[in-house]
Amino acid sequence: MRDDNYNDDRASHEPYPGSTESEPESLVAYLAKGFSNGRARNLGVPEGTETDKPAPRSIPPRFRHAGEWVEQWLAPIVVRRLTGPGQGRTWCAQWWKHDEVAVRMDALWSGWEAARASKDRLAMSALWVHHIDAHLRVILDGESGPLHMCGPDEHNEPGSLPVEPAPQGWFEHGRHRDTRLIPAGPNGSRG
Ligand SMILES: [Zn+2]
Repeated sequence: MRDDNYNDDRASHEPYPGSTESEPESLVAYLAKGFSNGRARNLGVPEGTETDKPAPRSIPPRFRHAGEWVEQWLAPIVVRRLTGPGQGRTWCAQWWKHDEVAVRMDALWSGWEAARASKDRLAMSALWVHHIDAHLRVILDGESGPLHMCGPDEHNEPGSLPVEPAPQGWFEHGRHRDTRLIPAGPNGSRG
């Protein structure tokens, strides 16, 4: 199911730099890098914004990146009835070729590592209910999700949302903040 690119990526990724307890900040620095040497880092995953904060606990991440986490932890334990593509639920063994899925999985992997390191006994439960389940509903949506053209053994290149550039000054002049465009809140206030 892998191709050469995937293997190259795995082989060339950076080793986790701070696996010793002498560098407690390295865990967060590492997590902030996202998919190490991978695409997720180039797709808007925040980089460097958390590196100055100390890690809550100085334990190294269990997995080196989201690819390893999906392959070795998530995929082996998740069971869903797959009926796609085009309907029900579907999956793509080359999920990492889908930018949206790669970014979502990278976020989940970071959260999983944080939950694993957390002292909160409900952290992992919250991760499932509020994040893993929520993301899987979108990712596995065979009718309209990011993998809707793929089946478990069939990858098809998806098309992303078409975009026409907004006219110059459209956002700078605050048109998008026009109160007529913002739904009123429960008290009639606008927000
Ligand atoms: Zn695919």
